[in-house]
Amino acid sequence: MDLGIKGKRALIGASSKGLGRGCAEALAEAGVDLVLNARGADALEATADHIRATFGVEVTTVAADITSEEGRAAVIAAAGDVDILVTNAGGPPPGLWSDWDRDDFIAAIDGNMLTPIALIQAALPGMMERGWGRIVNITSGSVKAPIPQLGLSNSARAGLTGFVAGTARQVAHSGVTINNILPGIHATDRAVSLDTGVSKAQGISLDQAKAQREATIPAKRYGTAAEFGATCAFLCSQHAGFIVGQNILLDGGAINATL
Ligand code: NAP
Repeated sequence: MDLGIKGKRALIGASSKGLGRGCAEALAEAGVDLVLNARGADALEATADHIRATFGVEVTTVAADITSEEGRAAVIAAAGDVDILVTNAGGPPPGLWSDWDRDDFIAAIDGNMLTPIALIQAALPGMMERGWGRIVNITSGSVKAPIPQLGLSNSARAGLTGFVAGTARQVAHSGVTINNILPGIHATDRAVSLDTGVSKAQGISLDQAKAQREATIPAKRYGTAAEFGATCAFLCSQHAGFIVGQNILLDGGAINATL
């Protein structure tokens, strides 16, 4: 399918690896020029080189912490006018409700709520003026079904989801859509880190922790960054203009709910 976005320009936060990179590759395959970001310059440059060589699109890189004010400012300045924004950042650490103090909550809210909101606020005026835009936020399945040990993530992402629900409906008239994709478990470094926590807590191997988690998923496997990216690229396509303010769950059926 021709996604109809060849020649558009996209900013993708936290995109040297994992789900952000999956989105970057799928958009590049559709002919979109990219602005990529991550803190570590080496992996970021390697990803950018791979995408340029594979898809022949323009790729600009900004090595910066997207959750810091200076990092965001650098990314926004380098990005300029973008047609597509994919917000993403690392997830907060797991723990118990009693582990976290105010500073921990502020850090999580900064990273997974206020950072995407700031990027959306920076991108929206230009998109609305030009009459076209696509914004996709990478959130988490925990928005629909809270994951007890991810209380920081549950809290911050619920806040972002509320903001998007209202804002998407305020801007849809101008040809700009905002939606969220909610990943269940995907085979990325984040999954390895979560499985490592389980293996240590239960005294089992990493493979056993992964197999145990896979057994709970109707699809009996983890999702891939490529599948995730393809969904993101579709939401950013010309065909998705009537999808507004939705929360699209990609979890292999793990959350047992009708809607
Ligand atoms: P990942 O594989 O760990 O990749 C994280 C990417 O983000 C890397 O490129 C990393 O590069 C970059 N990054 C992290 N923190 C950053 C920051 N502060 N500023 C700029 N770049 C940053 O993670 P993932 O699995 O793709 O997850 C992406 C998001 O989805 C996370 O918020 C995660 O919590 C959420 N999620 C993931 C899953 C899953 O199963 N994978 C499930 C539910 C939710 P640097 O480290 O070099 O900065």
